Amino acid sequence: MRPLIAGNWKMNGLTEPSAALALAIRHGLADAGAEVLLCPPATQLAAVSALVEGSGIATGGQDCHTRDSGAHTGDISPVMLADAGARYVILGHSERRQDHGETSAIVAAKVSAAMKAGLIPIVCVGETESDRSAGEQETVVGSQITESLPSDFTGIIAYEPIWAIGTGKVPTSADIAAMHAFIRGELIRDQAEGVGFRILYGGSVKPGNAAEILGLPDVGGALVGGASLIAEDFLAIIRAV
Ligand code: PGA
Repeated sequence: MRPLIAGNWKMNGLTEPSAALALAIRHGLADAGAEVLLCPPATQLAAVSALVEGSGIATGGQDCHTRDSGAHTGDISPVMLADAGARYVILGHSERRQDHGETSAIVAAKVSAAMKAGLIPIVCVGETESDRSAGEQETVVGSQITESLPSDFTGIIAYEPIWAIGTGKVPTSADIAAMHAFIRGELIRDQAEGVGFRILYGGSVKPGNAAEILGLPDVGGALVGGASLIAEDFLAIIRAV
């Protein structure tokens, strides 16, 4: 399976710069050894999906509701994301867990809804800095996995240590490899198919550290925030595969 390089644009992207970014990535992509995914804000999803159509670049949402439709002001359903061109959806990002009080149980319900709508969920897990200093990272990530994944889960896990997101701090390669091995073990224990699920690393992935991170055992790609907003940097990360 080719590694997946996913860009999480977060709450960034007005119409013109989003189109320019999507087109620059589309045009700069030559013989990518990776699968490429763009997750723009929901307001740009349909436009970006149309701009990358036929290029092999996929698009995805950054969150979804558990229902297909109904009286849920401000929410976006998985069916709506699929209708706007999405093939993937990021769920349980630490910014959603923190800013919107999303518990792992809520994340699990969203994962089920996304799968039902035919979307591939990318489920984010990761410890805080104090969890890590207390040596609790595996306990925390282990329970996030157990509680955020429905028993019939198929999809992608993104390991994103919260203290590495947007900070320029990155765990050592040994720590990334150890956590990915731990996550693989948890996935296999819970479900035999877990052996085939991709595990992405996310948190301050940049052109300068991408090759080393992507070369680690069981790192099946990267979830990139800040550097995915600069076409040259995102393309350099894709080329690092
Ligand atoms: P970052 O964000 O690359 O800016 O650290 C990663 C993420 O939050 O997905």
